[in-house]
Amino acid sequence: MSAPADPPRHPALALPPRPPARRGLWALPLLLSLVFVAGVLLWLRATEQADLEEQRTALVSDALSLETQASARIERESLLLKDVATRLDHRSTGPQALATLPEAQQGLHRFWISLTWLDAANRLVAQLPDGPDGARSGPGLSAHLSAPLASGGTLVARYSPGEMLRQTVPWWLARKYDVRLLDGFDAVIASTTEDRPLDGRQSWRISMAPALADSWLELTARDVVPPWYHGLPVAMVAGFVALIAAITWMLRRQMHGVSRAEAAWRTEAAWRQAMEDSLTVGLRARDLEGRLVYVNRTLADMVGYEPHELVGLLPPMPYWPADSHEEIMQRHLRNMAGQAPREGYEARWRQRDGRLFDVMVFEAPLVDARGVHIGWMGSILDMTERRRLEERERRQTETMAHHARLTMLGEVASTLAHELNQPLTAIASYNAGVMNSMQKLPSPDPVVMRALKRLGEQAAHAGAIVQRIREFLTRREPRLEPCALNAVIEGGVALLRRELQRQQVQVLLQLDAALPVIVADAVLIEQVVINLVRNAGDALAHQAGERRIVAGSSLSADGRFVRIDVRDNGPGLGGLGIEALCAPFFSTKAEGMGMGLAICRSIIEAHHGMFDATDAAGGGAVFALTLPVDLSASELSAEEGT
Ligand code: ADP
Repeated sequence: MSAPADPPRHPALALPPRPPARRGLWALPLLLSLVFVAGVLLWLRATEQADLEEQRTALVSDALSLETQASARIERESLLLKDVATRLDHRSTGPQALATLPEAQQGLHRFWISLTWLDAANRLVAQLPDGPDGARSGPGLSAHLSAPLASGGTLVARYSPGEMLRQTVPWWLARKYDVRLLDGFDAVIASTTEDRPLDGRQSWRISMAPALADSWLELTARDVVPPWYHGLPVAMVAGFVALIAAITWMLRRQMHGVSRAEAAWRTEAAWRQAMEDSLTVGLRARDLEGRLVYVNRTLADMVGYEPHELVGLLPPMPYWPADSHEEIMQRHLRNMAGQAPREGYEARWRQRDGRLFDVMVFEAPLVDARGVHIGWMGSILDMTERRRLEERERRQTETMAHHARLTMLGEVASTLAHELNQPLTAIASYNAGVMNSMQKLPSPDPVVMRALKRLGEQAAHAGAIVQRIREFLTRREPRLEPCALNAVIEGGVALLRRELQRQQVQVLLQLDAALPVIVADAVLIEQVVINLVRNAGDALAHQAGERRIVAGSSLSADGRFVRIDVRDNGPGLGGLGIEALCAPFFSTKAEGMGMGLAICRSIIEAHHGMFDATDAAGGGAVFALTLPVDLSASELSAEEGT
């Protein structure tokens, strides 16, 4: 059965590497111990075999040696009997001669039970000792030796094989072995011990022929070679195995406990890392010397270094701006002394690419598991986004204020326009009346008539302007219609020509003849052009030398936008941007109202265009407006429908 595979790990979880599988490691000591025990048992068995073999070798050699000795003893006794027979032959004085032979008496002292002299017809001639045999024979079987007599007859010596054995077997051999003499039917002829030999002992049997026909000498070892599974070593080994088994069981429990704890730790570590990585707050831990010992991913990303590049560094840190090392070091020493403000402090750090950014740092003591203070843990907030939001909020507030002022201004202008409308209408009516009266004259002065005509036109134009601005300010929407911008520019400049001549300002037009007709409110765009040209004229009014305004039009390279720019060679904007210039009521002129550019921008933005102002490269100012060529036809038709 294969082990269950680990679920796929999320790449973001860079956990400490998992140690190799060690599920069954706890069984290793038991396994090794069993191998050791098997070795010991094999060794015990081999030792037993060797002991048995050694005992057997000794047994065989001792049996051979004893058999030789016993055979030699019987041989010797046989020779001694022959010697007695020879002496008896020499004396041949009668039956009593046997008793007088010292050799015969010596034999009886050894282990002969009796000495019998038989004649040629096997009749008893004499016997030593006198009396029945049984009285001396004692327990056990007896054996006999015989020697022929020269005179005919036989000398027979009956002896006790048991006694013979007792005299022949050395004491040390008798202690080592039970020695028995057996006949052909395994009946015991003689034995050095009364006990029956026990089973399981080694014995060796050797034939006593020819010294003792049909008899066997059997040696049985008294010492039993204990079987290998008996005795102290096996008991110790068994105890050892039991002990190891118990230890293994405890080890297994311990290892399971450790595995569970490790699994819990790994889960916790994974969670902690996931939490740390998901934080938008940077974290850094420093030891008491100020060495970075840990940074989270957020902090590393904040400063543009990899965590491993930061860990281990001592101050000065690479994210300290180079020009304020001194000051930051002072702050660092203060923090290390535990005097960092509890409410945090602001700092400026440097990204790896050199970009500076503001952070808010909160320091807290870092304590280990025993509660010992081992360093400082800092949480770092990148303030860039917050600053951006604050700035946006500020601008939104400003814009709202700006719109509020514009609305108010619109109301004022609307009322003003309404009020102006009547006098302008009156001027036009009076003018028409005067012209009618003049025409009735026989010869009206043509110069006066022309002037009156221009007066009427101007009054009508002023009425139109007032009307359109009033409409725009109340509706906040331009009246869209196809419009040729070059004509609008020319018209606006023409209206100011006299005023510009007075200011001795030269106006040049650089118009793109191929400009497409766009959809726009011509009257409002003309007002923008007039305002820009007038402002340029005002800026040039006090300028010595050449005073020049260039009003131009052009089409963008992709043909989607038309651009009108008005440039002058005046004092320029002094670095002021469009925002500042368009701020309502911003004016540097004594009688300026400061609303012109603000209204211009509103008009352009109402056309979905862009309005901008910069200092010109060669001095002076450039005001430019960009309008989309294809302001959607739907807007135009919607406009026409209203
Ligand atoms: P106003 O004309 O009443 O001052 P505007 O909104 O039209 O109000 O202009 C605001 C200010 O912008 C002017 O007071 C002037 O300081 C500056 N300005 C406008 N046009 C130019 C220019 N062509 N060169 C230099 N300054 C300019």
